[in-house]
Amino acid sequence: MTMQYTEIMVRYGELSTKGKNRRNFIDRLATNVRQSFHDFPNLVIKAHRDRMHMHLNGEDADQVMARLRQVFGIQNFSPSIKVDRDMEEVKKVAAQIMQEKFFDGMTFKINTRRSDHRFMYDTNEINDMLGGYILEHVPGIKVKMKDPDITLRVEVRLNGIFLSYETIQGAGGLPVGTAGKGMLMLSGGIDSPVAGYLALKRGVDIEMVHFFSPPYTSEQALNKAKELTAKLTPYGGHIKFIQVPFTEIQETVKHDVPSGYLMTVQRRFMLRLTAALAQKRHGLAIFNGEALGQVASQTLESMAAINDVTTMPVLRPVVSMDKNEIIKIAQDIDTFDLSIMPFEDCCTIFAPPSPKTKPKIDKARAYEAKLDVDGLIERALAGVEITEIKIGDTFLNQEEESFAQLL
Ligand code: ATP
Ligand code: MG
Repeated sequence: MTMQYTEIMVRYGELSTKGKNRRNFIDRLATNVRQSFHDFPNLVIKAHRDRMHMHLNGEDADQVMARLRQVFGIQNFSPSIKVDRDMEEVKKVAAQIMQEKFFDGMTFKINTRRSDHRFMYDTNEINDMLGGYILEHVPGIKVKMKDPDITLRVEVRLNGIFLSYETIQGAGGLPVGTAGKGMLMLSGGIDSPVAGYLALKRGVDIEMVHFFSPPYTSEQALNKAKELTAKLTPYGGHIKFIQVPFTEIQETVKHDVPSGYLMTVQRRFMLRLTAALAQKRHGLAIFNGEALGQVASQTLESMAAINDVTTMPVLRPVVSMDKNEIIKIAQDIDTFDLSIMPFEDCCTIFAPPSPKTKPKIDKARAYEAKLDVDGLIERALAGVEITEIKIGDTFLNQEEESFAQLL
């Protein structure tokens, strides 16, 4: 019988902070991990000062580890086997592990650590006992102190002795939420999900803000944005998806603003609405997927003309990346294939034939002065709907199925 893991031992990431911040970091990570594993009912998560322990209670170790690799704020983790505090048992299990892993010429060492300092043997005694037993029972194996093939880690705790021999790299970053809350302007494109991933990586708890324009945009386009949101949940837990109706604003702007400024004025409305939502919901900054020079709206002049409507920080995590660098990340985080699905976007439909690449702030303001800006904003905000999206939620497939049934 091969050895069954009983728990995963998790080492925290970039824990430069101490005291209250450290506690905050650990509590937040524990909350995120619990959310991320909401569909593993038997898993028990205990977050201590130095480590987090995830007791599997029969849950599948490989599935748990695959998901754990994505959670931000984790440096690395080790699947472990719990044994009773009986050295005879520990010896047998240690030798069995080595026997299973054995290959010709394999070297090993034992690395013991005690969190229970009153245990009857100290770390050197345990190292010697186990090392000796393994040498005797696994023919051909050798001890090597520097760079052995396998390091068997032994941890003596009050409730048992834990053995592990693998260390798996975590995602790094900071636990989502430790850097505060921000709003991500999420389109259905390639760039904004990548921007969201990068914000999450540095611990920002993002809420998605998505503008849609029925009947010009379909239910499918909305579902695509929700599905993209679901793709980002493994990094930190649940994410709120805020959909904002944008039809009236787009129709009005299209009707009343000269075509060269359509795009600038539309974007100013998007930013105003996002800033208003941030204020209401205690967000501290706005994130978007703009990259310099990609399209007409992404020149410095254009950014300045759009940014004019708010003093809230607008952060652009992908601003200086080349398109293929962004695509590479999108592929790594598995948003790319979704992003390139051809659903019409509210911006493509109302895109003017030749938007100004160097819009003027004064002109944008002057054209807007003729519109009922406050009323338009108020009505859009009144139509907002919020969905909490969890890891594993899907939105597109269901639609596809019901669509297939219609055919
Ligand atoms: P993306 O790939 O993220 O769509 P893009 O290069 O296509 O970016 P634009 O379409 O000009 O660029 O959009 C720039 C940014 O504006 C987007 O990255 C996103 O943050 C925001 N944005 C655009 N459309 C929407 C929308 N419908 N809802 C929310 N945010 C949007
Ligand atoms: Mg786009």
